[in-house]
Amino acid sequence: MNEKYSGKNVVITGGGSGIGFATAKLLVDAGARVVITGRSQATLDAATERLGRNATAVRSDVSSLPDLDALAARVRDELGTLDALFVNAGITSAMPFEATTEEMYDESFAINVKGAFFTVQKLAPLLSTGAGVVLTTSVANVMGMQETSVYAAGKAALRSMARSLSRELLPRGIRVNAISPGPIDTGSLENAMGKEAADQFKAERVAENPMRRFGTPEEVAGAVAFLAFDATYTTGTELVVDGGVTQL
Ligand code: NAD
Repeated sequence: MNEKYSGKNVVITGGGSGIGFATAKLLVDAGARVVITGRSQATLDAATERLGRNATAVRSDVSSLPDLDALAARVRDELGTLDALFVNAGITSAMPFEATTEEMYDESFAINVKGAFFTVQKLAPLLSTGAGVVLTTSVANVMGMQETSVYAAGKAALRSMARSLSRELLPRGIRVNAISPGPIDTGSLENAMGKEAADQFKAERVAENPMRRFGTPEEVAGAVAFLAFDATYTTGTELVVDGGVTQL
């Protein structure tokens, strides 16, 4: 255990699994106090068990403004102020555009876009001078991939918000950046499309990737910690962690 982030207070939405969990683990292991959120109490309980006593779980749906108000009140009580906010909660929905229903569209935007925006708005009063906010976009926001039109459009909206929110929070000395993961093996694809389709999708992503592999949640977590704490002259940008697939 190192103490690099000792004394730092962090909120991670969707921190019970995948990239959010890996980031919580990295930060807790380096001395930070972390509040993770999610919709499933069982997932949150399992996560806090693994993270230890410097992690607290709050069940909170990012698409619900009353839940976000309650989260802000709880964080104020538990941590007081915040040094970093990782806006990570999101759902991956793969669907041909002809088959996409209004309900799917609304759910994707309610969680991935509206949820992210109001997470920042509700927690912003707690952010201290010098704090870092990290929004989670995706390489889908600059690629024309199959069956991702709604998801990709939502992530492109977040890319834009990273710039506008940077401008609005700059007077308070708060930086806002985006992390853009490429293919990261977290199990979320299997959840979104089933194992068979996920296996096929994953084989295609590996074949096209310059590094010929998926990334790990831990590789994204390191980049998130860099943006949140170490990138002190960086705001409004997007850091891509994708094995080079959008760059080479
Ligand atoms: P994941 O499913 O393990 O993590 C998403 C987390 O968000 C889960 O813990 C889930 O419970 C939570 N969540 C979902 N809806 C929520 C809601 N309404 N309120 C609160 N929490 C909610 O998947 P992941 O791959 O770790 O995804 C994390 C983020 O990274 C997402 O925003 C995703 O779009 C993005 N991303 C992932 C990849 C990838 O390849 N895995 C690629 C690009 C972007």
